[in-house]
Amino acid sequence: MKIIKRETLKQKPSPDAELGFGHYFTDYMFTMKYTQGEGWHDPVIEPNEPQRFDLGTSIFHYAQGIFEGMKAFIQPDGSIAVFRPEENWARMNRSAERMCIPQFPADVVEEGMEELLKLEKDWIPTKPGTALYIRPTIVATRVMLGVHASTEYLFFIILSPVGSYYAHGLEPTKLLVEDFYVRSAIGGTGEAKCLGNYAASMKAGEEAEKKGFDQVLWLDAKDKKYVEEVGSMNMFFVINGEVVTPALVGSILPGITRKSCLQVLRDKGYPVSERRISIDEVIEASKNGTLDEAFGTGTAAVISPVGLIRYKDEDYVINGGKMGEITKMLYDTITGIQYGKLEDTYHWRKIIK
Ligand SMILES: *Cc1c(COP(=O)(O)O)cnc(C)c1O
Repeated sequence: MKIIKRETLKQKPSPDAELGFGHYFTDYMFTMKYTQGEGWHDPVIEPNEPQRFDLGTSIFHYAQGIFEGMKAFIQPDGSIAVFRPEENWARMNRSAERMCIPQFPADVVEEGMEELLKLEKDWIPTKPGTALYIRPTIVATRVMLGVHASTEYLFFIILSPVGSYYAHGLEPTKLLVEDFYVRSAIGGTGEAKCLGNYAASMKAGEEAEKKGFDQVLWLDAKDKKYVEEVGSMNMFFVINGEVVTPALVGSILPGITRKSCLQVLRDKGYPVSERRISIDEVIEASKNGTLDEAFGTGTAAVISPVGLIRYKDEDYVINGGKMGEITKMLYDTITGIQYGKLEDTYHWRKIIK
């Protein structure tokens, strides 16, 4: 892999700085270009500097772009681990397919990511709960205003040292059930990690934040009846001892943390089901005392307990507003594997040496 070095390095945040999420970026990035007729070409690691783009570049107008999110963790022996990256590359190519972006070679970007992480190892924070967030992205770069798939693309990977996703850390989150705006409909793009999904969700997110909530719990677009997800996390409920998560019906992002949690739960013998779950069932369970736990799962937020949901102006406190047992077990298991504290029986850690 070609590496273009920079003359001066940036100042790194101090080891005990509150990193927050996505505020700092490292010195280098990986890039690769696509040109019709030539395919993907010129993979390179180069200084992460501001770029110049013509304002007619199609990404600015029609959001033909996709992204991924992974994390790198420092292991007890000092090596670097990434959690299931092959799953992210496979999902990114599925997102690409949905957005008319050409398929990319996963082996080339994996090598680019590994070389980049080795070069940027000193940026990986070591305080408990922190990690180096990895953001692979593809954007349409042809300068043209017609609504057609671009003939040129830029693939890039940038890195950001992060702390917890929510300002309040592992404190249970408060979710507002959204019954007006929708995130995604079947046939739409909710299954793809594409840029426009997140722009479309901001209005509801802002309104929820103004009311003191962390995020929105989305319902299905057609009936506003079934629980979908949180927009950066997949949702799980523990009702009467059964762990339930909405089935991947086409409007939900297929999370890799979700998939990993399902496997851990099944292997440990918990009753698990992936099915449609209505908000009425969740509320009913809360009222009759069978809603034991609720939590969200995602790379950024890891396993995040939900302590309260508001639906139609009524508040429902879950598990006394505290983290439940199954939530804790999953948090300990997933982070234990990620940080190298537990044996990796599933081979989910990709060690980069
Ligand atoms: C990325 C994302 C998730 C979580 O997926 P992971 O693979 O677990 O990180 C959930 N929902 C949405 C909408 C997302 O974009």
